[in-house]
Amino acid sequence: MTLIKTSALANYTTIKVGGVPASMNVCETAQELYEAAIEAWLSDEEFHVLAGGSNTVFADDLRDLNIIFVANKGIEVVSETETEALIRVQAGEWWDDFVAWCVSRGYAGVEAMSGIPGSTGATPVQNVGGYGQEVSQVITQVEFLDKATHLVEIKPASFFEFNYRDSALKHELQGVIGWVEFRLQKLGGMSVPMASGQITNHLGEPYGSQLPLQVVRDTVLQLRSSKGMVVKPEDFDSVSCGSFFTNPVVSYNKALEYPEDMQRWEMESGDVKLSAGWLIEQAGFPKGYSLPGSNAGISAKHALAIINKGGASGTQILELARLIQERVAARWGINLVPEPNLIGF
Ligand SMILES: Cc1cc2nc3c(=O)[nH]c(=O)nc-3n(C[C@H](O)[C@H](O)[C@H](O)COP(=O)(O)OP(=O)(O)OC[C@H]3O[C@@H](n4cnc5c(N)ncnc54)[C@H](O)[C@@H]3O)c2cc1C
Repeated sequence: MTLIKTSALANYTTIKVGGVPASMNVCETAQELYEAAIEAWLSDEEFHVLAGGSNTVFADDLRDLNIIFVANKGIEVVSETETEALIRVQAGEWWDDFVAWCVSRGYAGVEAMSGIPGSTGATPVQNVGGYGQEVSQVITQVEFLDKATHLVEIKPASFFEFNYRDSALKHELQGVIGWVEFRLQKLGGMSVPMASGQITNHLGEPYGSQLPLQVVRDTVLQLRSSKGMVVKPEDFDSVSCGSFFTNPVVSYNKALEYPEDMQRWEMESGDVKLSAGWLIEQAGFPKGYSLPGSNAGISAKHALAIINKGGASGTQILELARLIQERVAARWGINLVPEPNLIGF
C-alpha cells in the first residue's frame, strides 16, 4: 500500500472534475485493498473506492474524503478446455486491455464490450455492457470483501443479483472486489452470436451472426468513437462519464401511454426500455447544448453524455443533470436515474 501525495481527483476521472481528497492509498494487491477497506471501516473515516474514475462524478470539496485506489493488476488463465476457458482478472486491470487480450487469443464473450473505459473490478458494480453483451453473461465468480462480515469470500455471480446496468452493489450490498472470473468460449477466432443490430447492420451481416473477433472489436471501437464513447484526448465529447442516465424501463402497459414516436425497445422480460437520449433531446437539450454561463454541456455526438467542456466544476455538471431531470419529469413524468456514482455532493 502506498500513500501518495494527493492531487485533485479531476486528474483521476474521465469527466475531469473533483477536488483534492484528504488522502489516497494506492493498493497494488487484492490483499492491500482488503486491508485498506477494513481499516477505513473500523476508523469511521469517510472513504471511497476509486478505480478508473470513468463512472464517478466527485464534488469540488473533498477535504474529508479518503481514497482507496484500486491498482492490482494481472490476468490468469485458471483452466482451459478445447471449448472454453476460465480467466481470473485482478480488479485494477484495465477492462479494455483485458478485452483486447481476449480478442488476440481467441476467447469469445466480451468482444462487443470493447472500448468501455475503466477497470475490470468495477464491471460487476453496474453490470457493465454494450452492443448486446453484459458482463453478467460471462462472470462465474468474484472474490469479495463483504462489509457486513469483514470476510473475504469467493462469491458466485448470482450473489450480485445482476440486472440491466444494476447489481446488489448499487443498493444494499457494500464491499470490495479483489478479482473477477469469467467463462469465455473458444470458437476458432469467431465471436459469440452477435446480439446487436448496430454491429450486424454496419457489417451487412444477419443479426445473430458469428463474426471474427477482431472485426467485432474494430467495428465496436469505430461505432463507439463516432458517438464520443471511447476516451480519447483529442475528442472533447469524450470528457464524460459515458451515458449520464440509464434508459428508463417501464411496463408494457405504461409504455402504451406514451407517444408512438417515443424511441423504445421491447425487452425479453416483456417490459419496455425507453431511450433516455431521445427523452433528453425532446425535452429541449439537443446534442451540443451548452448550459448558459456554465462549462457543462451535452456531447455533440450523443445526447446522453454530459461533458466537461473545459474547467467545469462538479457543481456545474450536476446543475445540468438536475435541469435535464426536471424537464424530462415535467414533460412525461419520467424520472431519469443518473448512471455515474455521485460522490461528496
Ligand atoms: C466514454 C465512456 C463510455 C462508457 N461506456 C459505457 C458502456 O458502454 N457501458 C457501461 O456499462 N458503462 C460505460 N461507461 C461507464 C464506465 O466505463 C463503467 O461503469 C466502468 O465499469 C467504470 O469503471 P471504473 O474503474 O472507471 O469505475 P470507477 O468510476 O472508478 O468506480 C465506479 C464504481 O465502482 C466502484 N468500484 C470500483 N472498483 C471497485 C472494486 N474493486 N470493488 C468495489 N467497488 C469498486 C466505485 O466505488 C464506484 O462506486 C462509459 C464511460 C465513459 C467515460
